[in-house]
Amino acid sequence: MDEAKIIELLDEHGIRPTSNRIMLMMALSKADHPLTMKELEDLVDTIDKSNIFRSLSMFREQHLVHVLQDGADAVRYELCLSHEEDHDEDIHAHFYCERCGQTFCLNDIPVPKISLPEGYRMNTINYLVKGVCPKCQQ
Ligand SMILES: [Zn+2]
Ligand SMILES: [Zn+2]
Repeated sequence: MDEAKIIELLDEHGIRPTSNRIMLMMALSKADHPLTMKELEDLVDTIDKSNIFRSLSMFREQHLVHVLQDGADAVRYELCLSHEEDHDEDIHAHFYCERCGQTFCLNDIPVPKISLPEGYRMNTINYLVKGVCPKCQQ
């Protein structure tokens, strides 16, 4: 994703595109898997930790990122590529490899639809499969 696209995305979500936020978004969009705070900190080492954390909370509130728990209970962030507020089309399953500890996005497999009983409202859903990735099986 280029800078112009990122600025547009931030604008659309009512977030002022400061250089720090753009840098963070850039790091998230380049990653091929959801990132932990630690990984993000290493990628954007010019921004301090509390600033990263505040921006991520803001992105989360504005549905710009997905927040998920990986198989080792670490919180991970990834860019949400759906632009609809109430209907998130970008929900996909994740795979956690118990050998190498990597988390993968399974973008191309369909996820089951959950029908909640009356009175319950869903905010987010996590599909996490644990096992061994192809690389670790070799
Ligand atoms: Zn693995
Ligand atoms: Zn993902």
